[in-house]
Amino acid sequence: MPGVHLPYLRGYPPEVLVQVQDLINAGRLAQILARRHAQAHDVRNERALYDYVSELKSSHMRSAPPLAKVTYDPKLHILKNVLGTHSAVSRVQGSRLKAKREMRIATLFKEAPADFLRMIVVHELAHLKEREHGKAFYALCLHMEPDYHQLEFDLRLWLTAQELAAANLPCECARQQPLGPA
Ligand SMILES: [Zn+2]
Repeated sequence: MPGVHLPYLRGYPPEVLVQVQDLINAGRLAQILARRHAQAHDVRNERALYDYVSELKSSHMRSAPPLAKVTYDPKLHILKNVLGTHSAVSRVQGSRLKAKREMRIATLFKEAPADFLRMIVVHELAHLKEREHGKAFYALCLHMEPDYHQLEFDLRLWLTAQELAAANLPCECARQQPLGPA
């Protein structure tokens, strides 16, 4: 589609992408998202993240295997692994093979609105039971967060807006402070 380049929204219908592009062109995307997801969170370190994840897990996913480790990971590639990772590190323990489960959440969620942290943790918790993004997986997500699909879409919009803001920085500076003599 000419003029529409929205890598975080791959797979969404073209008419949706056109609407998003219109909001971007009108300079309204970031503002709309900030209004819709105004609440911040204070899950700022790994201890707090572990507690946050444990609480969600024990209210909705009690039967899922326990998590050995929960971390914020600054190295997660945002575009490729936007939704965090989940891994089962297999290791031999005595004669049995035991899966030690870890959850890594991209560090950018430290600064994200509370809604998006909840969404990403719900997503990763669902992976404790379902590896693939299939029907059963999304049923689990919806069980934990009834608004899951809207939140995932809004997260993708937010990432788009974040990237645009970063890309536009030089223009803002240029506007405030003319570069060189006219
Ligand atoms: Zn996933």
